[in-house]
Amino acid sequence: MRRLTIGLATILAAVTAAACSDISSPIRSNVYDWRLVAPKQTGGFDTLSFQWPASNQPVRYWVADTLDMPARVQRALDVWQGVFLYREFRGTVVADSSTADVIVRIGSPPASPGVPLGAFAPAFAAAFAPDCRGATDLDIRPGDEGHLFLPVRVYIEPKFDGTTAGESDCLDLTSIHEIGHTIGIWNHSPDPSDIMYGDPIVSAPSERDRETIERIYHVTPNVVPVAR
Ligand SMILES: [Zn+2]
Repeated sequence: MRRLTIGLATILAAVTAAACSDISSPIRSNVYDWRLVAPKQTGGFDTLSFQWPASNQPVRYWVADTLDMPARVQRALDVWQGVFLYREFRGTVVADSSTADVIVRIGSPPASPGVPLGAFAPAFAAAFAPDCRGATDLDIRPGDEGHLFLPVRVYIEPKFDGTTAGESDCLDLTSIHEIGHTIGIWNHSPDPSDIMYGDPIVSAPSERDRETIERIYHVTPNVVPVAR
């Protein structure tokens, strides 16, 4: 098994995804590349695009009950849900981790058990705000790049004890950033004014973040979730 940790370094590819077939949907053009470029077992690369199917929604998030994290993740879900025009994504915090689609824990991620993401990503990376950091691990297996095995695992690591003002803001900001990865933004924006910038400094999704996630839910994905 190999985990792909969404990291800082990416290869930028041209956005070639087709527009949504729904003629009433807006055509988004102010977007960054959200897709994950992953090395294939047979050589070469796959460019992976993911969205949660309607049949999997609301997506179930289990969150470690510490540092007010369940409320922070709920707010992050509310923020992302609020950017959609047509409720394309819905998520909810659940109490039972055994049925969750996404697991959010406090701490650093375990070392990758398999092949790291080649030359593209460090073993650990993601959001590096001053007082905390986060990572999102995707279980995508060599030779089976079309499947995302659940649960998705998110790690948010405070530097201190989560009680300083800066740290609380950082946990909120990082929660929004990592939840953004879990709903389909599998890459980083190159622009610091976006919440999905690799080292985020803004506290909320920008117009470009909004248009990017809208676009994701109006193109055909090539990765589907697989229940555990
Ligand atoms: Zn990130």
